[in-house]
Amino acid sequence: MLWRGRRQSDNIEDERSDSGGGLGGGSPGQFRVPIGGRAGGGSSIILVILVVLAGWYFGFDPSQILGDGSGGLVPGGGGQITDDSGSQDSTGAPASDEMKQFVATVLAETEDTWTGIFKANGLTYEDPKLVLFSGQIRSACGFASSAAGPFYCPGDHKVYLDMTFFQQLDQQFGASGEFARAYVVAHEVGHHVQNLTGIMSKFDQMRQGMGETEANQMSVRVELQADCFAGVWAHYTAQKGILEQGDMENALNAAKQIGDDTLQKKMQGYVVPESFNHGTSAQRQTWLARGYKSGKLSDCDTFNNPV
Ligand SMILES: [Zn+2]
Repeated sequence: MLWRGRRQSDNIEDERSDSGGGLGGGSPGQFRVPIGGRAGGGSSIILVILVVLAGWYFGFDPSQILGDGSGGLVPGGGGQITDDSGSQDSTGAPASDEMKQFVATVLAETEDTWTGIFKANGLTYEDPKLVLFSGQIRSACGFASSAAGPFYCPGDHKVYLDMTFFQQLDQQFGASGEFARAYVVAHEVGHHVQNLTGIMSKFDQMRQGMGETEANQMSVRVELQADCFAGVWAHYTAQKGILEQGDMENALNAAKQIGDDTLQKKMQGYVVPESFNHGTSAQRQTWLARGYKSGKLSDCDTFNNPV
């Protein structure tokens, strides 16, 4: 991706303990209460309550529901790689603090794209914040460890990312390349779009009273839609002429490597389809490619179409 020299988002909150100076300047815990300058503030709070209640009811950790790592599947707690300075990267992707610039640029590209799409539909896009953290973080969705992977918290409209996940993606999951990483960020932003458009609260309502297997199937639809939205973003990014040869292939490969079936096979040697909550490799690739091909939100309706 030809990202260098392009606009970087200032919606990054650097909460890395070893970053040598965070942008946010706030101590963890300070930004947890959604301060609604808009009418959305109230619904955020309700949503948090819903999510937390749903979590208690179904016996899962609400902080994990939009988590996109491999969670408990990763042996040894996710293979923490704490080297944050001068890390070697043989994948052609940026290393160390250049990575932060890369993430800030990808985030800016998502802001521009989604602002345009929302505007075209008579809506106003509200930029999410992206929190960089190392090791562990407290969000409005609860306490999270980087072992659980990147996640989006609907309660505070923030994407949480420990960039060491990118190394894990490359070394452990076999998904290398810049655009594999861009896809991860775009997928999380896809959840933000779902939150802003009310899809997420609808999802929570629909999930009320469902058993675990059914709730997992619903979760798959939410996740595949976020993949499709990431594809929509990639579509517009390609139109800007900043995609390079192999970029989309890297994103599609990442979608394959983090498919539930592939991950389970790799991590535990067998698959438990009832436990799938993000979609199989084939499903994730299909929906990412679908969004990419048309760039249309209407092609991302994972709720009224077979997935
Ligand atoms: Zn997700």
